[in-house]
Amino acid sequence: MIRSTVARIDLAALQSNFRAIRAFLDRGANPSGSRGGSPPHRASVRGGDPAERPAPQIIAVVKANAYGHGSERVGVALEQAGATMLACADIEEGIVLRHAGVTRPILIFGALSVSDLDGLFEYNLTPTISTPSAARAVQAAAVRRRIVCGYHLKIDTGMHRLGFRHDNLRRTLPELLGSPNLRLEAVYTHFATADIPGHRLFDDQRLRFEEALAQIDPRAQRHAANSAALLRDSRVWYDIVRPGLLLYGVVPPPLASTIPLQPVMSLTSRVVAVKGLRPGESVGYGARFTATEPRTIAVVPAGYADGLDLRLEQGGHVLIRGRRVPIVGAVSMDMITVDATDLEGVAPGDEVVIIGRQGSEPWQQIDVREIAATIGTVPYEIVCRIGARIERQYT
Ligand SMILES: *Cc1c(COP(=O)(O)O)cnc(C)c1O
Repeated sequence: MIRSTVARIDLAALQSNFRAIRAFLDRGANPSGSRGGSPPHRASVRGGDPAERPAPQIIAVVKANAYGHGSERVGVALEQAGATMLACADIEEGIVLRHAGVTRPILIFGALSVSDLDGLFEYNLTPTISTPSAARAVQAAAVRRRIVCGYHLKIDTGMHRLGFRHDNLRRTLPELLGSPNLRLEAVYTHFATADIPGHRLFDDQRLRFEEALAQIDPRAQRHAANSAALLRDSRVWYDIVRPGLLLYGVVPPPLASTIPLQPVMSLTSRVVAVKGLRPGESVGYGARFTATEPRTIAVVPAGYADGLDLRLEQGGHVLIRGRRVPIVGAVSMDMITVDATDLEGVAPGDEVVIIGRQGSEPWQQIDVREIAATIGTVPYEIVCRIGARIERQYT
């Protein structure tokens, strides 16, 4: 049994995106040996001549069920493509990846001070230590198990969420670095404004991170760049980068990129009913769309329980028979209604593209950036909210 609304996940596109990012980083790290695609802002980093530094490694971010794409298949595919490490939000997500067969190191981004830590050790996950209380909790748990636990240290350089404050390290780091059962593997920070061109907090954070690094064992690896930061400034590539959104073929707005990315997810359904509206009649909850002339309404079995936002009523579209048709009336829990008046012969069974392509013309594509812009949110939210009852089909 399979519902008519399905998400198709193109694992070949995902792996191709990984390789395209890899190639972009290789070109940026060794610009002399390449043509085309000029790298972003360059400057010397620790290690001397920037032309000589190795390209950074990649931590593939697969938190939140791989941004709604399904972390099990996506995690394995990214490991196969060559990711050095995977990263997810919490221990529970890490365990899902291990059960799926991922063998590479898995970094847990989230704070662990109130978590059940057993999974860290049983599933060989790498914690982020971002608070003194997490440090004590992991140290105590490691002592009980008589092991030494490798970790990544997070520095708060201006996001002011998680991480040791950059301006208080002299007081907070000695206890952490002196913990006998904890081994520092890497140091990282996270940018608050990488996707806001010209925002000065980005440079402030970079400089604060570099000051923090000067106080820490130089053998620790360093990482800072999410998708937006890696597009924006090669000075923050350091030893490893941490793209998420780019892997899924989406460039964080408002940025543009020359990396040849392919969309990974499409969401399609089928028309289940066609209904005539007479002038003066309305459709849906709240009677918010009223026909002024005869209208043909097509009913599509996907609603807000599937992740379609209520605000799509204003300006949202789907593709049917290669044409863009507007969503009209309220988005319901399990259905949307679209104005199919201009579609000759629209009938139950017609394919409906909610995200993706139906034809090769530019207007025959609806991508997650467009949907996000229509409803005033970020593309991340669109893909993460694709509902649990939507089957992911992998190709
Ligand atoms: C989500 C996340 C990323 C990836 O962000 P994108 O914008 O999707 O590239 C990187 N680092 C951390 C700490 C994150 O939480």
